[in-house]
Amino acid sequence: MQKPHFLNFSRLEYRQLLKDWGMPSFRADQIAHWIYKAGVRDPEHMSNLGKDMRQKLFTELDWHMPEIISKLDSVDGSTKLLLKSHKGHTIESVILRYENRTSLCVSSQVGCKLACDFCQTGKLGFVRHLERGEILAQLYLANEILKPEGLRVTHVVFMGMGEPLDNYENTVSAANVMMAEDGFFLSARHVTLSTSGLAPEIERLAVDTRASLALSLHASRDDLRTSLMPINRRYKLERLKEALLYYQKTTGRKITIEYILIKDRNCGLREAKELVKFLHGLRTKVNLIPFNAHPGLPYDRPTDEDIRAFQKHLADRSIPAPVRYSKGLDVSGACGQLAAKHAESIHAIPERKRLVIKDDTLIGISG
Ligand code: SAH
Ligand code: SF4
Repeated sequence: MQKPHFLNFSRLEYRQLLKDWGMPSFRADQIAHWIYKAGVRDPEHMSNLGKDMRQKLFTELDWHMPEIISKLDSVDGSTKLLLKSHKGHTIESVILRYENRTSLCVSSQVGCKLACDFCQTGKLGFVRHLERGEILAQLYLANEILKPEGLRVTHVVFMGMGEPLDNYENTVSAANVMMAEDGFFLSARHVTLSTSGLAPEIERLAVDTRASLALSLHASRDDLRTSLMPINRRYKLERLKEALLYYQKTTGRKITIEYILIKDRNCGLREAKELVKFLHGLRTKVNLIPFNAHPGLPYDRPTDEDIRAFQKHLADRSIPAPVRYSKGLDVSGACGQLAAKHAESIHAIPERKRLVIKDDTLIGISG
């Protein structure tokens, strides 16, 4: 039988586990402290536990961590991590270093079922869900990498590979441990689940977690959105808005709207007007993200002038919408660029080297 991973348990779940083992459950507090606060992931080193308990933890649980296959440092201070899960497959995450915060973009699945037309991950198809422990391991390892720099992850965004709400239970339980006081203790405003619009799951989230919600909207007219995001066939904009209104009413929280700007597709005056209409009645923060182009995809980034005109239409209607440029483009770490086919081809590249990628093709290694 497969052993459960040690990161699959919160402090309370460790309590239950110890109870089931007939061991004193208050020790769970010490175990959770070692794991989540002290960053100790070997029961042998949990020095205030008795030998029996250390032995039991060691034999009953899985203590493997994904292996860091490569660490690609971008010129802009982001780092793309390729992790090889002990359960197989490559998991990708990206560390984003800013002046006053350090964000981690985590994956929730290998591949994705939802096949958005503009997304590299979508082109991969679906491989499998990540377990809760595999999601949390990304944060755990990022903190280990950042420690020598005197940094730790302060923000987590579920914007790597996969649709987090399609892997609902694992995503929500991982997010809850990220925020828990006896877990990683991140602020609920700093843990963000990004979804392409699974309406029923958005409604479930309102009661299941305090984590923040981001919606990848990208179009506010059904025919256009369906052509970009097939999920819109299942949950049309009207249904989506109903879910957002429910979420807003239940939680009182603002919703982040992500809107990719794709040249000649979704960022003309007509689409700006449609967006304003869609946002009516919602309390949101809108981010405009110029599309990251890929060869083989028929989409491009709009001109700066088009971006400014779209933004101005919103600003004139009291909707501030900052333009966010993706980091990590040179290491294929930017939004929508995570795709395991890269991962497979760069296994052999040692740490600290920097890939030189132009037009998505590896043209050299520096560093
Ligand atoms: N599946 C979730 C989260 C992962 S995708 C979702 O769709 O929200 C994370 C973000 O990257 C989404 O907003 C997605 O629309 C965006 N994205 C995908 N491809 C992109 C590209 N080529 N350029 C810019 N953003 C992209
Ligand atoms: Fe999946 Fe998100 Fe990419 Fe769409 S944008 S294919 S939902 S990862």
